[in-house]
Amino acid sequence: MLDDDIAIVTGGAVGIGNAIARRFRDEGATVVIADIDEATGAETADDLGCEFQHCDVREYDQVQALVDGVVDDHGRLDVMVNNAGISSVTSVEEMDLEEWEAVLETNLDGVMHGTKAALPHLTESNGCIINLGSIYGLVGGKGAASYSAAKGGVVNFTQQVAIDYADEGVRVNSICPGFVETPMTEELLESERFYNFLEQKTPMDRHGQPEEIAPVAAFLASDDASYITGANVPVDGGWTAF
Ligand code: NAD
Repeated sequence: MLDDDIAIVTGGAVGIGNAIARRFRDEGATVVIADIDEATGAETADDLGCEFQHCDVREYDQVQALVDGVVDDHGRLDVMVNNAGISSVTSVEEMDLEEWEAVLETNLDGVMHGTKAALPHLTESNGCIINLGSIYGLVGGKGAASYSAAKGGVVNFTQQVAIDYADEGVRVNSICPGFVETPMTEELLESERFYNFLEQKTPMDRHGQPEEIAPVAAFLASDDASYITGANVPVDGGWTAF
C-alpha cells in the first residue's frame, strides 16, 4: 500500500500513466498528474479525484515549478514517476533531425528533468523514482532509432542515479514494457503485419494492458521493494527473454 504517499506521474492523462495514477490512488496515495495535454489531463484528474498540473517535461523550469509546487502544497514528495513519452518508428536514414531532437528531449531529457527536480525532496523523504524505459532500451527495435537511443539512455541513467543516491536513501528503478495498448500504440496494434511480428517476438503471444504495468509501479514504489534499486524491470510477456 502507498498510504499517505505524495506522488507525481508525468504524462498521466492517458495510457500507462493514467493506469499508474489510478492504481496509486487506489493504494491510498495523493497523486498529481502532470501532462502537456491540459484538456485530457484535467478530465482524467477529475475522473480519478487527483490533482492536475500542466507541464511540458522538455522544459526544466516547468518541471522544477511542478515539483516544488507539489512540495509546497503537500509538505513532501515520495514518488516521482517519469512516464511522459512520445514514440517514433523511423530508421536513421528516414528520420529528420527535428524528430531525433523531439524524441530525445521528451523521452530522455524529460526523465533527467524530473529526476533532477525531485532528488532534493526525495532525499528528505527517502522516496523513490520510477522511470518508464522500454524493451527498446534493453534490446534493439525495428526502425526505432531515436526511441531506442532515448530508452537506452533511460535504462543507463536509472542505474547511474540509483548508484549515486543509494547512500541517501533514494531508490531509482525503471519499468521496461513491451507493447501495451495505449493511444501511443493503438494504430500499430491494428496492423496485421505488425501483430504477426509481435506474436513471433512475444512468448505470451499478445500485447499488454496498462493495468498490467501499473501494479509493477505500485510494487516498486512500496516498502515491499525496499531492497530494489537500479533495476530495469521488463514487463513484456517474455519479449526480452526470447
Ligand atoms: P501515450 O502516448 O499513450 O501517453 C503519453 C502521455 O504523455 C500523454 O498523456 C501525453 O500528452 C504525455 N506527454 C507527451 N509529451 C509530453 C511532454 N513533453 N510533457 C508532458 N507530457 C507529455 O503513451 P503510453 O503508451 O502511455 O506510454 C507511457 C510511457 O511508457 C512512455 O514513456 C512510453 O515511451 C513508455 N512505453 C510505452 C509502451 C507502449 O507499448 N505503450 C511500451 C514501452 C514503453
